[in-house]
Amino acid sequence: MPSATQVWQTTLGEFEVSISKANFTTWFRNTRIVSVVDGLVTIGVPHTFARDWLQTKYHREIVASLKQFYPDLQRVDYLVVTGAAKPDPPVPATPGSAAAPAAAPFAQAGIPASARSTAPAVQTLNERYTFDTFIVGSANRLAHAASLGVAKKPGIGQYYPLFIHGGVGLGKTHLLHAIGNEIHRQSPKKVIIYAPCERFVTEYVQSIQSRQVDGFKKRYRNADVLLIDDIQFLAGKDGMMEEFFHTFNALHQTNRQIVMTSDKRPRAIAQLEPRLSSRFSWGMVTDMQTPDPETRQAILQHKCEERGFALDQKTLAYVAEHVQSNIRELEGALNAIVTHCELYNVQPSLDLVERVLEQTGLDRRITHVTVENICQTIADYFSLEMDDLLGKRRNKELVYPRQIAMYLIREELEFSFPKIGKALGGKDHTTVMHGVEKITKELGHDDGLQRDVALIKERLYVAG
Ligand code: ADP
Ligand code: MG
Repeated sequence: MPSATQVWQTTLGEFEVSISKANFTTWFRNTRIVSVVDGLVTIGVPHTFARDWLQTKYHREIVASLKQFYPDLQRVDYLVVTGAAKPDPPVPATPGSAAAPAAAPFAQAGIPASARSTAPAVQTLNERYTFDTFIVGSANRLAHAASLGVAKKPGIGQYYPLFIHGGVGLGKTHLLHAIGNEIHRQSPKKVIIYAPCERFVTEYVQSIQSRQVDGFKKRYRNADVLLIDDIQFLAGKDGMMEEFFHTFNALHQTNRQIVMTSDKRPRAIAQLEPRLSSRFSWGMVTDMQTPDPETRQAILQHKCEERGFALDQKTLAYVAEHVQSNIRELEGALNAIVTHCELYNVQPSLDLVERVLEQTGLDRRITHVTVENICQTIADYFSLEMDDLLGKRRNKELVYPRQIAMYLIREELEFSFPKIGKALGGKDHTTVMHGVEKITKELGHDDGLQRDVALIKERLYVAG
């Protein structure tokens, strides 16, 4: 049996070849196995960012890798171990801030030079995502109009800042790039930074590790236009929220444009500091809905033209009707059809399209969150039977998942308490209210609960 150190070296080796060097250094440096007890392996990590990131991004792969050596593995936990590493001096707190970001304790030795320099924010605007290629329908009309407004007059008016929210694959990222591309076309000298929130977080952590926090701050605070995608990733990361708070203020005070996207409206993002959610709502908050079948068909037609691929109206209508969940899946369906036709050198027909959609599982696949898939996901997560989750027995092992179900149905679907009670097999509305309140309160300080909820949500939303 190899030692824990050898096991972890193997796991690290697997990650080293499968993810980028910068990511590997940022998230896996100074990690180790601290204990293996029965079926529980505990991984020591140097800071809370690494803990959160490993949990949400790499947990599955880590478990799979460790299973090779520990076939009886039941659980993998992450523990912040600060003692072993020599801490950095605290991050200089921005004037006026009460505390330094929570990211202070980092080790310094042995950072490869490549990770040390924080690369300048590259212009990563996707040229394909423009207003010209965006099809407008009732579901996205407001978000589109607001984005155009921003692109024409960044930094002034009611769209300052602009916050766009909606489910996956509905065109938020597309609009964000379209704004950037349009401003760049009109004013090429403007400094436009587009960053998925994950990149903002990663760069910040790297800048601390390489002691270039000032460079990081300066770069983001120099932007004329800051476009941050999927801002919900800030939630629960204290040091990051603090940093973004100051970036936001610096830009806002000098009339520079900020646009953010998210999967939820600001106040519905759990564990987002109130001072941030209130700022995000200062300007315009607009949502994007799933487009109606006509818009879906128009988008599909447009995508076909872009690719020089011909589908007749009947077939287009069939695809638009059957792939309902979002535009990304609609594109996925088109891809599958095109690939199939090219591979077998056949012409697209309705019959073929039906078969391809069925085979790829895209047909009628709904990624909307429902009571059923919330409950199913929770039951799977805790390895419970649905009957137990919905039943009346009150053991601790059942009550906890049940209360999470109450909380998530309330959060994600905004059901009333009596309606939640009914959906959960006939529970009293006061029981539901108590459950939701309990989880809401405990989320503030219970790490284990935070992780359970985050992972359940991830499984819920990252469908397929
Ligand atoms: P989100 O960021 O909301 O998850 P994206 O912006 O990544 O979604 O959109 C997913 C795909 O769907 C992209 O390829 C995008 O170009 C396309 N898309 C979404 N909405 C539209 C639209 N209204 N017109 C044309 N393409 C769209
Ligand atoms: Mg997106």
